[in-house]
Order: sequence, then structure tokens, then C-alpha cells
Amino acid sequence: MNPLPTPALLAAAAEFGTPLYVYQADVIRAQYHKLTTAFAGHPTRFFYACKSLTNVAILRLMRELGAGLDCVSINEVRLGLYAGFQPQDLLYTPNSVTFDELVAAKDLGVNLNIDNLSLLERFGATFGGSYPVCVRLNPHIAAGGNYKISTGHIDSKFGISIHQLRHLERVVRGTGLDVRGLHMHTGSEIKDVSVYLRALEVLFEAARHFPGLDYLDLGSGFKVPYQPGDTETDMTELGQQILAAFGAFEAEYGRPLEARFEPGKYLVSEAGYLLAEVATVKHTTATVFAGLNTGFNHLIRPMMYESYHHISNLSHPHGPERLYTVVGNICETDTFAWDRRLPEVREGDILALHNAGAYGFEMSSSFNSRPRPAEVLLDGDAPPRLIRRRQTFEDLLEGQIDYQLSMSNEQ
Ligand SMILES: *Cc1c(COP(=O)(O)O)cnc(C)c1O
Repeated sequence: MNPLPTPALLAAAAEFGTPLYVYQADVIRAQYHKLTTAFAGHPTRFFYACKSLTNVAILRLMRELGAGLDCVSINEVRLGLYAGFQPQDLLYTPNSVTFDELVAAKDLGVNLNIDNLSLLERFGATFGGSYPVCVRLNPHIAAGGNYKISTGHIDSKFGISIHQLRHLERVVRGTGLDVRGLHMHTGSEIKDVSVYLRALEVLFEAARHFPGLDYLDLGSGFKVPYQPGDTETDMTELGQQILAAFGAFEAEYGRPLEARFEPGKYLVSEAGYLLAEVATVKHTTATVFAGLNTGFNHLIRPMMYESYHHISNLSHPHGPERLYTVVGNICETDTFAWDRRLPEVREGDILALHNAGAYGFEMSSSFNSRPRPAEVLLDGDAPPRLIRRRQTFEDLLEGQIDYQLSMSNEQ
């Protein structure tokens, strides 16, 4: 795990209040650098999966680094364009999407990744080979420990089953579709390099049926450490093994193939912290609860995926250690950590929840009418910069159309 930037985090909490999301630009840069270094020997592109964190300041940072963007909705595409990406640097990978939204993305000129035979057929029937596409396959390789975040298993809604390859070929030949890439994304938190190699073998097998490809996209699933002693995907080993496999296949295929990846978590998870103040310490007969001024409305991963998020007591790091169940302020069971060993927690302490960069703010809501937090970027030694203001009471009313019941009753 990365060293905790305690003084900068406490300064940000003091200046902007809590709950507060804080991101470290340098950590994002270092993660991106690990990727480009590991795959340096071969044409490779990284499309940041921006659904993990779409703040425009983060998108601009990714653009400066040379990344493309992987977008899962038309508004993510629009955010990418707004942040200065060129259409050819955007990849649109939707699922359960209407034909109209697909056409809207085509009209914006972005790369299309289609994951459904009926859409592919309609797209081919309408546009023929006039617009290149990528096809999302489902290799049926179950990867990652958690069924909820694994996307490659047999029941998954994602991609076109590898067992439908013949059907896919018929659609492509029948419509003259210009297929330039094959894609798969087998899930999240894959520890084992061999899972990628197995997925790659399946992609190669499919690629033999499509002679005009320019790239193969392996999606993401890179694992990051969540607790002390935890491992991350060994990028150097992954790079070596994947590139060796690519080299051998390219010789057979007779044409160079770009490798593509779509890291989300790997780039931003460890860069982010959710800072919260301890509102209450409550001793019950069995447990000591540390109650925070945030909740699963701001960080849903522990309740939704049973994810472990490491917690640091920033303002009292050397207190005697005790066990705490760390909970939120939402009126539902709202637990960040059960029986967690922490330096003594006092009311008013500032705690940091780690690995909050990916799927943290992005999945937040104003449930219980508690506004969403502010976001701050730390960049080198520069003062912390506010990149999204805290929501206010007025924001909760925005868009609502006041309906006076008494008026309609008077008629
Ligand atoms: C979510 C997603 C990713 C990113 O996954 P991470 O686990 O955050 O790296 C990549 N590609 C696609 C298609 C996705 O849906």
C-alpha cells in the first residue's frame, strides 16, 4: 500500500470540511507509468475506464498522460469530448443500449464496441462496412472472486458468447460489417496472470475467423491491494507473458495487432481517500461503534460488494489500538468495517477510508437527503485544489417541480 499523505489530507479536511474525497495525481501518474513500462515493447493503448471516476480534472489528467477513455454511456462520451479527448481516443462499450444511442455515439465519431448480436445486425444492415466496429465477446472465463463483479461467467449479460461465433460470422458476412477489433472484459480483481493468458487464447481463436483486425482489447480486471500485505496484479510479468503470446500470434496471423486495455481501478483506486469525521463513539453491551459523518450513500462498496477498505485514524495515529465497528449515518445498516483494529478513536477524529478513488464518489448519492461530498485534487506540492464543490440543500431541490396539492383540490 502507498504511504499515507497525512499532513496534506488533514489540511484538505480542515480547508474544505468533511466528508471529502481526495485524489493524488502523482499516484495516478505512477500507476499509468507502470502500465506503459510493462507493455513498452509492443504497440499498446490504455483506455481509462472512466466509469470508476469521471471528474473532469481526472479525465484531463488521463489525457495528459496519453490515455484514451473507455465510456459506458453516451454522457461519458460527452464528458470525454468536453475534457478535450479526440473522438478516436474514445471507446464506447455500452450494454443494454438502444440503437439510437449507438448511432448517437457513431455520429460523434468514437470507436464502437458492440456486445449484442441483434444490435450488430441492425448496425450492419444500416451502415454496412462504412463505419468500423469492435465486437465484445464473452469467453466464459469466470474470473475474480466476487460473482457480482465478474462479467465473464456463463450467466453474465455481457458480450456475445464465444459459442455464438458461427452466428457472429454470418452476421458480419451478411451485412459487410467492418470488424476491426475483438474485445473481452472478464471481470475485476483478477490475481492470476494465467487467467489473462487463457482469455487471450480464446481471443486468438476468435481472431482467426476475422482476418482484418487491427487490435485485440483485453478489457481490465487488474487487481490492486486493499489491505497491508495484499498483492496487486504483477504488471511486469503480465506484460512479458501477454506480449510473448501476441508476438507468436501475430506471426501466424500475418498482421500487426495493437493490444488494448481498459484499466479503471488500477489507475485511480489507491489514489483516492474518503475523509470523514467521527461524529459519535457509542459503547453498547457488545461493541464499540465509531459513527462517521458519511455513509453508504458516499461509499457503497463495503455494503454492496463486501469490499474491505482500509481505515486510518489521521488525527490520532498513535493512540492505543482497540476494536471498532465503523458505521455511517444512514438510517439503514451501514457498516464500513466490522471489529476493525484502529488507534483509539475519539469524537472529532478524522478517519481516512483508503482505495476510495474508484467507484467511490462515482457511485455516491444523496440518499437520506445528505448531499454528496466535495472532491479535491492533490498534485505534487501545490495547495489542495477543489475540483467539485460540496452539494448544498439547494442542489437537493434542483430539478424538482413544486406541485401545490391545495390548488388542485380547490377546483
Ligand atoms: C468496468 C469496466 C472496466 C474497468 O474495470 P476495473 O476493474 O475498474 O479496472 C473495463 N472495461 C469495461 C468494459 C468495464 O465495464
